[in-house]
Amino acid sequence: MTEQAQPLKTYRGNCHCAAYIFEVKLPEIKSAVQCNCVICSKKGALWQVPAHDNLTFVKGDMDTLSSYSFGGKIMNHKFCPHCGTNLMCMGYMSPPKPGDETPPQMIVNVRAIQNLNVWSLELRPIDGAAIPPTYEPPKFTGPEPSADIEGGKTYNGSCHCGVVKLALKTKPLDKDFDANIAECNCSICGRLGCIWIYPNADQVVFEGDENLTIYKMGLGMYGKSFCKICGVPIHNRPETLTEEQIAALPEEPRKWFTWGKNMSIINVRVLEGVDLKELNVKQMDGWNAAKQSYVNP
Ligand SMILES: [Zn+2]
Ligand SMILES: [Zn+2]
Ligand SMILES: [Zn+2]
Repeated sequence: MTEQAQPLKTYRGNCHCAAYIFEVKLPEIKSAVQCNCVICSKKGALWQVPAHDNLTFVKGDMDTLSSYSFGGKIMNHKFCPHCGTNLMCMGYMSPPKPGDETPPQMIVNVRAIQNLNVWSLELRPIDGAAIPPTYEPPKFTGPEPSADIEGGKTYNGSCHCGVVKLALKTKPLDKDFDANIAECNCSICGRLGCIWIYPNADQVVFEGDENLTIYKMGLGMYGKSFCKICGVPIHNRPETLTEEQIAALPEEPRKWFTWGKNMSIINVRVLEGVDLKELNVKQMDGWNAAKQSYVNP
């Protein structure tokens, strides 16, 4: 049976802040397309391709989503301007020929779909990295991080459009790296597709971080940052809380905040020269742990 012949199910999806809610008709989602191009890798996007007209907005609309395109500007990456959830792309894989009336292709990031465990999906790789032009990583021009790390190495990182850059000094990020690196599937980390590393603040220097939007949620302990131009999630920023505010937190969140408040928690996906397949990435089941606290809109 081909994919087209399978019965369609209606799935509901949304960005984390619920400004955008959509419904999409697809055959039962058992797999997703994983593209290795730079923007899909930085966003950890996992794609499904609905037939034309099978996606409708329940709340919000396509025109008010933030839109980012590059190169030939034929594919628009659409993300929520408030929370950074990368919802969909609309456009063409190759420029349409003159007179070609084919409507633009819509693809959906299944990370935004409700009650879908993306870790259970079969991933179907495509080689988007081979499509020209070749990506030129932006150059970090700020100072070295001040931390003194024995055998340390400095990695540069950035969003896709290059307005936000960073340097991270750390023990080499390879198969022998033994500090925590974690992929979390909670409502926000799962949507943003982040893989976190937990350096101290003095191991990281940002450049252009005035271009970040900070999304605060829940108890407001950490702000999730993303580039306001291209939507790439950059870091999980501990917020500045007073002693009174910290004391007022429930016990478990207070431990988590006290542990991380001097860190600069970075999305490993934005770093240059790191092979994710080499790293020992732990899967942190935040979705089940925090099940009660996020209500699907
Ligand atoms: Zn949102
Ligand atoms: Zn791609
Ligand atoms: Zn950017």
